[in-house]
Amino acid sequence: MADPPAETGPGAGRAFAIGLRNRFRGITVREGMLVRGPAGWGEFSPFAEYGPRECARWWAACHEAAHRGWPAPVRDRVAVNVTVPAVDPERARAIVAAGGCATAKVKVAEKGRDPAEDLARVEAVRDAIGPSGKVRVDANGAWDVDTAVRMIRALDAYDLEYVEQPCVTLDELAEVRRRVDVPIAADESIRRAEDPLKVRAADAADIVVLKVQPLGGVRAALRVAEACGLPVVVSSAVETSVGLAAGVALAAALPELPYACGLATMQMLTADVTAEPLLPDNGYLPVRPVKVDEERLRAVEIAPAGWRARAEAAIAAADGG
Ligand SMILES: [Mg+2]
Repeated sequence: MADPPAETGPGAGRAFAIGLRNRFRGITVREGMLVRGPAGWGEFSPFAEYGPRECARWWAACHEAAHRGWPAPVRDRVAVNVTVPAVDPERARAIVAAGGCATAKVKVAEKGRDPAEDLARVEAVRDAIGPSGKVRVDANGAWDVDTAVRMIRALDAYDLEYVEQPCVTLDELAEVRRRVDVPIAADESIRRAEDPLKVRAADAADIVVLKVQPLGGVRAALRVAEACGLPVVVSSAVETSVGLAAGVALAAALPELPYACGLATMQMLTADVTAEPLLPDNGYLPVRPVKVDEERLRAVEIAPAGWRARAEAAIAAADGG
């Protein structure tokens, strides 16, 4: 990748730190950097544990947004799911009612909780969303094969759309998939461009969950989706509206989009960098550019040196340095 001009490259990046309403992946603050280019704003927000090689793809996604923009959309809005964390049934019901979405994703298999709580939560969500709504569950890889098979059969009493990452490994996913009728989606199994092909080769899933930044941009993710051939659910990496817009662009450009996407995550953050956050309206996100608001960006801005250095290291890694 050629070095971008200084005024639009990492040297001009604006770093941010925004609180999370609830702990996520062990963090309570989401940090990253925004870069402005001729095509708009891009977000570079790899998680802290990622080294330069992995960050190179996150940087490529940011660079694409700022310098190239995205392929033309084939739809003007994207259906999204409301996410129900591992809460009690009453709270689950309230989250679904407030979400206004026709699809709910319910977190299950959380450590230290009784399986009966998962059943009660999913029952409450099915009741709240109604018979025409879709209910999917996400185990984040927490079950072993036998537990997964038992729990999926029990939870399917509430008519599951699919189960996301019931177990950790591809072999386990493939075995679960052979033993249950509910479709399986791979999320944590996909961290880089070659992973969806491995998922498919292993017969490990019916659906792949794709995120723009780890795959290196909207175009790269479209190529991955085409090569993989499985239906795609586009998900966020819990970004500001600038990063979410890239996910929306991918979802909007996919030839087929049979499932609601996991892009309604703006509410997980306590602030945004735009006056018009990408929040769902009646279960859909609009396909539109996001304008950064200088005052809101300044309110969450932090010293940029560390983030600029991370971006420089990512660019060097991409150049083979
Ligand atoms: Mg997931």
